Amino acid sequence: MRLQFVIPFLAVAAPLAAQTPRVPAAMSAIRESDINRDMYRMAGPSMRGREAGTLDEMRASMWLADQMRAIGVKPAGEDDSFFQWWNIRRTRVSSVSSSVKLAGRTLALWTDVSPTSNVAADVSAGTVFVGDGRDTTIDVRGKVAVATLVPSATPLRTTTNTYEYRYARQAIASQSAPLIQRGAAAVVIVADSTADIAYDGVWKIQERGTYDVIGGVPRFAAGAAPTQNLQSRITAPVLFVPRSALDAFRVNGQTLEARIRLENFETPSVNVIGVVRGTDPKLRDEYVLYSSHQDHDGVRFSVNGDSIWSGADDNASVSVALLAAARAFVKQPAKRSVLFVFHGAEERGLLGSRYHAAHPVVPLDRVVAVLNGDMIGRNHPDTASLLGIQPPHRNSTQLVQMALEANAATGRFVIDSLWDRPTHPEGWYFRSDHLPYARLNVPAIEFSTNLHPDYHTPRDKPENINFPKLTRMTQWMYMTGWLVANAPVRPAIDPGFKLER
Ligand SMILES: [Zn+2]
Repeated sequence: MRLQFVIPFLAVAAPLAAQTPRVPAAMSAIRESDINRDMYRMAGPSMRGREAGTLDEMRASMWLADQMRAIGVKPAGEDDSFFQWWNIRRTRVSSVSSSVKLAGRTLALWTDVSPTSNVAADVSAGTVFVGDGRDTTIDVRGKVAVATLVPSATPLRTTTNTYEYRYARQAIASQSAPLIQRGAAAVVIVADSTADIAYDGVWKIQERGTYDVIGGVPRFAAGAAPTQNLQSRITAPVLFVPRSALDAFRVNGQTLEARIRLENFETPSVNVIGVVRGTDPKLRDEYVLYSSHQDHDGVRFSVNGDSIWSGADDNASVSVALLAAARAFVKQPAKRSVLFVFHGAEERGLLGSRYHAAHPVVPLDRVVAVLNGDMIGRNHPDTASLLGIQPPHRNSTQLVQMALEANAATGRFVIDSLWDRPTHPEGWYFRSDHLPYARLNVPAIEFSTNLHPDYHTPRDKPENINFPKLTRMTQWMYMTGWLVANAPVRPAIDPGFKLER
């Protein structure tokens, strides 16, 4: 990680509960040995990184259903199964019907030249070499502006993929936008030596295209999509070429023909859902919803010889924690019922949770709380985050209070509240599966131990998990659900709850 912040930990004022709640006997069913074994299976090489919409996500989903069945969790999906099926809608550049030619010579799509956005285009125009692009006296109107990549002036995002990938992506976006505003019909960005390292990564991720779910809860409020996304201002094709292509491209007046076609198709994903029924005749038709996601990033470009992006922390950590919590609830059911939902395709835009929140397997007004977790097995052993702990993200003070009481009785983590602030640069609150439920006014929180340098790289492996910490986080999540599921009165929604975007 090139850019690092040093963030002091901030303890939230501890709730002064009359007394620390008693831990149920079934807590002993949560064992580090189970968590460890399940982690090495779910994030092991045979799962191939569990990419959404592929057989690898399906394999992980079947494995989770098998585990729940063995534990004694009952199916709560469609047709008495553990599964709720839905389709991912994909849009991508067609590798079959798109083509790029320079001076009559066909370039191999992706390997010689890579589109960098899903923009359909028919361009045939002469090239003009603009160097780093900063000389605004060069007339680029109606032409194909060819620029050499220079580092972006704005700071890099701290996480996701490799440094070189982020460097290349940000430079491409910040250099191409002004050239398009100056009237370029298309832009070609030639990699420098740093971006060249990421050339394969850029095209392999771009080739996948974009993902959406039809009929899901929107991720952002209308008109409130992140404005820092330069991609949204790109209206002409932006092509990325390796550094070795510089000599071929820097000659002015060559005709570049770019015919970029898009294709749409659907591919299945699945939510895996089980239930442990409650014991109280009145309360058992209300549900505490535990949430994780089973997908990760699959097999991608290789980093240090490893191409399996295993997603051990993200999010096998919470998935195996929920299996452990399920063992405890099966051993000793609570008054309310407990629903375990493993959402598909979270990494592709919270797709599974956006679908399930819109098509819940139980009436949404019977869901008394969503306890989501995302990445709970890394960083300092004694700190953790609770997202949704403070305005404007907090939607239930009573639920937060129960989570803090549960922490006092179990993990005793120092709660880092900085990641939950609306000013935090990572926007962490908006990046996991509690969000669609919170938007529909279901009390919702997220447990996390935050980002680390291995996030969304092949280095997110089981051997980098802190298993004692993961076990304590599991105990905390379990205890929170236990308190909510047995509370005489369900947690209320705070009046005036409104997210900032
Ligand atoms: Zn995740």
